[in-house]
Amino acid sequence: MPATTLDITAIPALTDNYIWLLDTGDGQCAVVDPGEAQPVLDVLEPRGLDLRYILLTHHHFDHVDGVPELLEHTGASVYGPVDDRLSFVDTVCREGQEIRLDALGLAFQVLDIPAHTRSHIAFYGHGALFCGDTLFSIGCGRLFEGTAPDMQRALDKLAALPVDTRVFCAHEYTQSNCAFALAVEPDNTALQHRASEVDRLRSNGEITLPSTLGEELSCNPFMRTREDAVIEAARRRDPQAAAGASTMAVIRAWKDRF
Ligand code: ZN
Ligand code: FE
Repeated sequence: MPATTLDITAIPALTDNYIWLLDTGDGQCAVVDPGEAQPVLDVLEPRGLDLRYILLTHHHFDHVDGVPELLEHTGASVYGPVDDRLSFVDTVCREGQEIRLDALGLAFQVLDIPAHTRSHIAFYGHGALFCGDTLFSIGCGRLFEGTAPDMQRALDKLAALPVDTRVFCAHEYTQSNCAFALAVEPDNTALQHRASEVDRLRSNGEITLPSTLGEELSCNPFMRTREDAVIEAARRRDPQAAAGASTMAVIRAWKDRF
């Protein structure tokens, strides 16, 4: 089911959220995590787009609060995780399932990635990953309903995707994430380059996304909890830290207070 073209653009919303708009160029579209309706409606009308699908990664208000108003204006179908806090999902998405957005000629694989919330999912397809608040560029989500081992498993699952996967996360947190990452790994040259590029983009008011999975593997300390430099930084705060989940626990707690 190859899409002819897939144009993915960010619709800024709330303080620092991005709602991702998927447009295949035939007048139909989808959005991911609409925390507000009006910024989406403001894009649909001038572009003559019909919103057919809404994809939700998790139940937090800044990802779902626009859904009821969007449903008043459109006939969109809502895809989201199994979670009774999400009343308006009409197609529940489970691990390993492929969701087919037939009107757009797109299909996405559903990945369960509980950690930030217990029912958080990601959508992967067409070289793009929509990972909500689990993986950020150079960071990861807070552990509201999961544990450090959960986050380690979630990020390991994402790390197994192709390195050229484009990462569409839900917040513009990259610049502050770089400051923390540099505290963990000051000598990481790939990270130094990413941080200066991010500074340049942000000083021009530009978006820092998408990144690629390869960049995250090289620069994001939460994707690097088995790298010696990251483990050593964690051990300076907790001598028990070892490769993987315990280093994840130490650096996640460190970031919470950073
Ligand atoms: Zn969230
Ligand atoms: Fe969020």
